[in-house]
Amino acid sequence: MAEKQKMIKVYLTGELFEVPEGSTIMMALEYAGFQLKQGIGCREGYCGACATVYREKGDYKLKGGLACQTVVSEGMAITQIPSVPAEKPVYDLNDLTPDVGTFTKLFPSVFRCVSCNTCTKACPQDIEVMDYIQAIIRGDLAKAADISFDCIRCGLCAMRCPAEIVQYDNATLARRLYGKYLAKKSPELEKRIEEIKEGKYDKDIKELKEMPHDELSKIYYKREIKIS
Ligand code: SF4
Ligand code: SF4
Repeated sequence: MAEKQKMIKVYLTGELFEVPEGSTIMMALEYAGFQLKQGIGCREGYCGACATVYREKGDYKLKGGLACQTVVSEGMAITQIPSVPAEKPVYDLNDLTPDVGTFTKLFPSVFRCVSCNTCTKACPQDIEVMDYIQAIIRGDLAKAADISFDCIRCGLCAMRCPAEIVQYDNATLARRLYGKYLAKKSPELEKRIEEIKEGKYDKDIKELKEMPHDELSKIYYKREIKIS
């Protein structure tokens, strides 16, 4: 006889539900009947759409995580944050210079950083968020671009920052400036872009777009990554 699934009690946006033990927060929400139209995306920890705050039973700490990656525990209280409101300046990269002066103009709040490291502790991607903010303040955009490379723009760092800094928008600008002005040009990349423009991969791209998700997933995880 199949073993009965063990159930646990959790609070989902303030209401008590029984959900299967071992579920992620996203699975628990769906099991409880929530239809997720916002705060959901790739389901695999890449898109940053499912930021969630939660408190574990008996723990005073308010924690943040991704609903698709965080597993529920008995008595957990959970609320999703479908988006973090943030003020974002509009800019044209062609008008900017890759230096700290650009941040002084567009993101003056970054200089309010008090080095408390709260953002790093809040990051579900284990990114050294404070370090990339400090690199921006020093004008080291290459370092900021490198440290923030895996940022998925979930917004959890900005939500906890006492200086009201929007870390991920600063990081995005640092990576854009680095990519456009500072990174060493790759002849292979230029060549590949030309080939794409000429339609060399149109057939392959069409095939990938039409491929069932499971098959696509297999190919994705089997791919070879060459780093030179
Ligand atoms: S949470 Fe804000 S103030 Fe604290 S280290 Fe991070 S960016 Fe700086
Ligand atoms: S740096 Fe901020 S926005 Fe980016 S993944 Fe970490 S917490 Fe999310």
